[in-house]
Amino acid sequence: MAQRVFNFNAGPAILPLEVLEEVQGELLNYHETGMSILEMSHRSKAYEGINRQAEANLKELLGLGDNYRVLFLQGGASTQFAMIPMNFLPPGRTADYILTGSWSEKAYKEAKLFGNTHVAATTAEGNYKRTPNLDEIQLSDNPAYVHITSNNTIFGTQWKTLPSFGEVPLFADMSSDILYKPFDAEKFSLIYAGAQKNLGPSGVTVVIARKELLENNPKDIPTMLRYETHAKNDSLYNTPPAFSVYVLNLVLQWIKKQGGLVGMQKRNEEKAALIYHTIDNSNGFYIGHAQKDSRSLMNITFRLPSEELEKTFASEAEKAGLVGLKGHRSVGGLRASTYNAMTVEGCRGLQQFMLHFQQKNG
Ligand SMILES: *Cc1c(COP(=O)(O)O)cnc(C)c1O
Repeated sequence: MAQRVFNFNAGPAILPLEVLEEVQGELLNYHETGMSILEMSHRSKAYEGINRQAEANLKELLGLGDNYRVLFLQGGASTQFAMIPMNFLPPGRTADYILTGSWSEKAYKEAKLFGNTHVAATTAEGNYKRTPNLDEIQLSDNPAYVHITSNNTIFGTQWKTLPSFGEVPLFADMSSDILYKPFDAEKFSLIYAGAQKNLGPSGVTVVIARKELLENNPKDIPTMLRYETHAKNDSLYNTPPAFSVYVLNLVLQWIKKQGGLVGMQKRNEEKAALIYHTIDNSNGFYIGHAQKDSRSLMNITFRLPSEELEKTFASEAEKAGLVGLKGHRSVGGLRASTYNAMTVEGCRGLQQFMLHFQQKNG
């Protein structure tokens, strides 16, 4: 491959070129330390600085104050599926889950291992084409928390208006859309995200939580699975994924330089519009999976008239330098992941390819 491609993979996913160049530039000698960040003690001044900055940058971008903390954990978003009920679903209480796709189903399945659960809404009918209307949501009596998935990576749907339930703590898996636009983060008691979609490289999972959730966790669960352990030790209880946190911090700095979350929203709306517009004006050649009012700006899912054409599309696109477009097996078809780091130029490239492909095969 002589040059870089347009990378539409769902995750691990595209990173900003500027960030990769910065990493390359300081890989052998980080800030005059004479060593690579890859070789450095996590107890060093240099790494402690990165760790602190990453937390501060994330809180700044989300507009969060001293009543919140950010943790950098391992085990992926999938470990959060279990850690949340282990820490926050006490005996005799019920946790409510809103099912909007495969990832929320997985979160729900883990919670069932630890206590009472209730499905407050599901859009499984019709293969998760949409997120629920607020009036479809039926909470249990006094739930311990409500869990939602803000963006459904596989199905390509996204909550347009994030719900909130007054005093009931709201927890969200934002793995595939955190920081894609401004939102009221204070409505959430806990937000988590595997970094490898919209934040950075794989290996680190971000947890943003109200401080009171990070103390007095149950004592009968493993040390590493208690949030309190990590909060008390500033995410340095054991060896952290230092390189991933370092790259994540560079991505946060990059977002700030692009105008923060307002800048991201403008960029993401422009990108997604290029592709959805092409789908909507294709006279049915391209068929979007998501209902229009639930369309994701991060993962755009669509089908073609036949599976054979879908295969041809993916392979010819790859030859044209548009990579990672094959859809997930539970939806089929194609999926273009257009996370923050994807450029407008990349989406224009995909749009042109879609137009030509339809001309040739439509
Ligand atoms: C990818 C993804 C996950 C799983 O993340 P891991 O870090 O691989 O465990 C969970 N939730 C959502 C919404 C995802 O997109």
